[in-house]
Amino acid sequence: MIEERKMRFYGLKDIDKIPQLQKLSATERFEIKVTAHVLPFRTNNYLVEDLINWDNVPNDPIYQLTFMQKDMLSDEHFNTMADAIKKELPNEEIKKIANQIRYELNPHPAGQMTANVPKLDDEPVQGVQHKYKETCLVFPSSGQTCHAYCTFCFRWAQFVGMNDLKFATDESNRFQTYLKNNNQITDVLFTGGDPMVMTLEKLKIYIEPLLQPEFDHIQNIRIGTKSIAYWPYKYVTDKDADGVIKFFEKIVKSGKHLAIMGHYNHWVELSTEVSQEAVRRIRNTGAEIRTQSPLVKHVNDSAEIWARMWKEQVKYGCIPYYFFVERDTGAKRYFAIPLSEAFEIFRGAYIKVSGLARTVKGPSMSALPGKVTVDGITEINGEKLFVLNFLQGRNPEWCKRPFFAKYDETSTWLDQLTPAFNEKKFFFEDELDKIFHEDHIELAEVF
Ligand SMILES: *Cc1c(COP(=O)(O)O)cnc(C)c1O
Ligand code: SF4
Repeated sequence: MIEERKMRFYGLKDIDKIPQLQKLSATERFEIKVTAHVLPFRTNNYLVEDLINWDNVPNDPIYQLTFMQKDMLSDEHFNTMADAIKKELPNEEIKKIANQIRYELNPHPAGQMTANVPKLDDEPVQGVQHKYKETCLVFPSSGQTCHAYCTFCFRWAQFVGMNDLKFATDESNRFQTYLKNNNQITDVLFTGGDPMVMTLEKLKIYIEPLLQPEFDHIQNIRIGTKSIAYWPYKYVTDKDADGVIKFFEKIVKSGKHLAIMGHYNHWVELSTEVSQEAVRRIRNTGAEIRTQSPLVKHVNDSAEIWARMWKEQVKYGCIPYYFFVERDTGAKRYFAIPLSEAFEIFRGAYIKVSGLARTVKGPSMSALPGKVTVDGITEINGEKLFVLNFLQGRNPEWCKRPFFAKYDETSTWLDQLTPAFNEKKFFFEDELDKIFHEDHIELAEVF
């Protein structure tokens, strides 16, 4: 029997109130505070009480997942903020310093702000990103927070107010008109933040209209969410829980495929009774759960962790989907893992699991030209190489055409790689320039 639980958020102001944190030194707590003045901090009682093993702090993966660490900022940034706090500068000053630091942390990677927003009657459709033909991303305005914030989040900027309005849908729901007018779209992916922080009522406002005949071309409704890991009670004992489950059933009965894109970073997140029950209830509706996670140092940087996570997911009926390379933003300096190592971890985990878990794709970079995977490390004519491939490209023709970059042990992102065989450019670069030229976007701004 799983008991009802009331959610309690902990943010910057609560750092001295979390009982479990009191076993850290005052210096350590101060370090959390300093970093949390720059990057968004939020955790909750389920994570603190049930998922974090406090005997293993600070190395515990779930602790690293939501609690700020000093080294997430450079020494210079950390010291600037620490000094400001120690001097008790006025709030306005502290905010200004925080924003200066944030702008130096590449808050809008891969041209998200400018490159992927479609137009309707020559006006941008707010809250929509449409990068690949079949799939449209929708950012509901009420779903732009999360049940806790991941310390590595690439959408962190919106949680500190840097781009909130530009990203989310406006009230007029022009996104629906856009979807209606674009028959090539088969998939709508609701994302955030986390759309599942929305009440059932809000969720219905966004999804129910898509069940009408004029949206017949939308075959698949996807919801990107971390809620099964961060607050599984949403599907089990919360006030809305039965309603959410019934609504999922309704979507499935309407004839559409409902895909819950579950964000999981570690097998611990599937180890509680309530998280397993949430998965069971969601799957009973006919929805599928596909799972995705970035590779994050200090959280899941070993093949053993991934293999065990995928095995557990498959055991409970989830489908491993994406293994992402951590994006070039925010606390990347703390979390980044070189592509060479990312590939070895991916491969190391892949060879430990059965074919049912090998549905996973990766290691994948969501970069400006598309989703690019490292498919292998090999040697051709004495030159050591990365074998790369597009899973998705701005031009779909780029997919499944292996291309090669010089091997190195330090690059962490596509833009750091150089073409192999002494070629000057990768095969897609001229065309990418052209696409952006037509859109009047400076590549230098976004790459
Ligand atoms: C990953 C991604 C999608 C979905 O791609 P699939 O291959 O269908 O999973 C859609 N839009 C953007 C911007 C993406 O990054
Ligand atoms: S749940 Fe997703 S959007 Fe929310 S903080 Fe984590 S990574 Fe970011």
